[in-house]
Amino acid sequence: VNSCTFCAILAGELPSTIVHQDQVCIAIMDIQPVNPGHLLLITREHFTGFKDLPPEICSQFFTRAQKLADAIRQSGIQCEGINVLLADGTAAGQQVPHFHLHIIPRFQEDSFGFQFSPRYAELPTRDELENNAYYIRQALENLPAA
Ligand SMILES: [Zn+2]
Repeated sequence: VNSCTFCAILAGELPSTIVHQDQVCIAIMDIQPVNPGHLLLITREHFTGFKDLPPEICSQFFTRAQKLADAIRQSGIQCEGINVLLADGTAAGQQVPHFHLHIIPRFQEDSFGFQFSPRYAELPTRDELENNAYYIRQALENLPAA
């Protein structure tokens, strides 16, 4: 039996309700949905983090995500908007260490939302924005070419 929950689902060792599957990914119903129609889109291959996805798989995966989000909107399930949520790392709320995307139908007053820290109200200075942009640009330049 697979120790990874999603690999176990992909192997048919755990039950799931499948919405779509292809060579790259599988979409299943989240068993604890934020709202009805909440999907999980999971890579067929076991990758842990966002950065681990090869470009070709990444591109096909997000194209599929776009289509599934559109299908939710057209499905008749209550949906006035969609959140596509990628939790990359435990601190970001990733609960299963197998790359996946949450596709969540949203509607006014569904009582779901993001919680901001108190410092969110204090806007950073332009210098602070420039400094952080500098660090990220440096890191970007030092990444291996795709
Ligand atoms: Zn896995």
